[in-house]
Amino acid sequence: CQNAQLTGPIETTMCNYETVESVNDELFSNLSELVRLPFFRYFQVDLYRECPFWPDHGSCSDPGCAITTVDESDVPEKWRASTLSKVDPSSRDTRHELPGCYYRDSDFCFLDDNTEGDYYDLQLVPERYTGYSGKDAQRVWRSIYEENCFGLSELNLMNAKAPAPVSLPDSMIQVMHEDGVDGESQCLEKRVYYKVISGLHASISTHICHEYLNQSTGEWGPNLECFIWRVASHPERLQYIYFDTILLLRAVARLGPYLSAYDYCSSGKHEDDAETLETLTKVIRIAQEVGKFDETVLFRGENANIVKEEFKTHFRNVTRIMDCVGCDKCRLWGKVQTTGLATALKILFELDEKALDPSSNSGLLHRSEVVALMNTLFRFSESLKAVDDFRQLWKETDANA
Ligand code: FAD
Repeated sequence: CQNAQLTGPIETTMCNYETVESVNDELFSNLSELVRLPFFRYFQVDLYRECPFWPDHGSCSDPGCAITTVDESDVPEKWRASTLSKVDPSSRDTRHELPGCYYRDSDFCFLDDNTEGDYYDLQLVPERYTGYSGKDAQRVWRSIYEENCFGLSELNLMNAKAPAPVSLPDSMIQVMHEDGVDGESQCLEKRVYYKVISGLHASISTHICHEYLNQSTGEWGPNLECFIWRVASHPERLQYIYFDTILLLRAVARLGPYLSAYDYCSSGKHEDDAETLETLTKVIRIAQEVGKFDETVLFRGENANIVKEEFKTHFRNVTRIMDCVGCDKCRLWGKVQTTGLATALKILFELDEKALDPSSNSGLLHRSEVVALMNTLFRFSESLKAVDDFRQLWKETDANA
């Protein structure tokens, strides 16, 4: 756990661990307020699409995995399916449709069709220990890591490619996990891809360990051993939580003017909208101070466009693999966070300042992308806070030993 104390520059970014830590309390407190507001708390998604990659995705029968929807009448009218289905018919032309979902060429994820899916109140669904584990959960993670095999191959951009059959020997997966590579020397883009995924995995593990159910006492609380085992004993996993946080902050910083001009129309009450904007402005300010990620160093060399298309295809597949997660709560947060990270990647790697200009491109992002982006940043900020708690717990345990 001593490894959990990180100092110095965060690789591939222009930021230090200390800088992120120095703002995280303020960031966390503002984001906690923000995600409680009506605009950011309701997420619409189809949670029950078929897993496109294997027939039996298992299901978690533990009550901890179950989830309830919210009645659409609780959601501000502007965001209800009946209203949304009337919006923006022109954007359909540039979309690649698949049953229940679609993507546009610029997207790094599959988005749900706005007219499908239920609303979930994210505030009522903490990301914590659910009991979902075993070979079903591991198969999902394994498939996600296998998407990290870039081959500069012929791309099929119209349809999600099934991930490579889940047949790599464990020893090879281990190498992929440890090095983030599959044996060969890897380009920067592949390393970034691996960091994004491993950071997400580490953040989810941190939440699980921080809100852990002690099966013998029935009590919830932090489980230091779980955190050491899953995260702290692999310092690079912890580093990638910081890495993802910087990447998300950079996206929010670049999206600042767009977010400031966005129509939140949260509840029809003017004071709610004013509060949304005020809190958001504080988050954007922090993001502009700390989100120092230089996206221009990626996708530059020979074959840059091919590598970028591969990156996008792989990341889109990750968002589809979420349909194979056999626990409702985990699937919901999996979808929110892969959409949030995909939105950040789109902002950084697809959209220039002109595209991000709210006056010329007001319909650039869907509500689900904006909601996912901010809730994902919140989750990572919460993970960093949990890491602080674990460091404290470690000190106390060490002192008592
Ligand atoms: P896993 O976490 O399943 O990891 C599998 C293997 O991957 C490990 O053996 C290790 O070799 C490697 N690995 C682990 N972490 C990393 C990393 N950061 N980077 C690189 N390699 C790594 N469970 C819950 O209780 N609550 C949730 O909210 C929840 N959400 C989930 C969301 C998704 C999208 C998925 C796929 C699973 C989710 N799970 C959740 C299950 C959880 O992530 C674990 O799979 C489960 O707790 C079993 O853990 P494990 O120790 O077997 O290792």
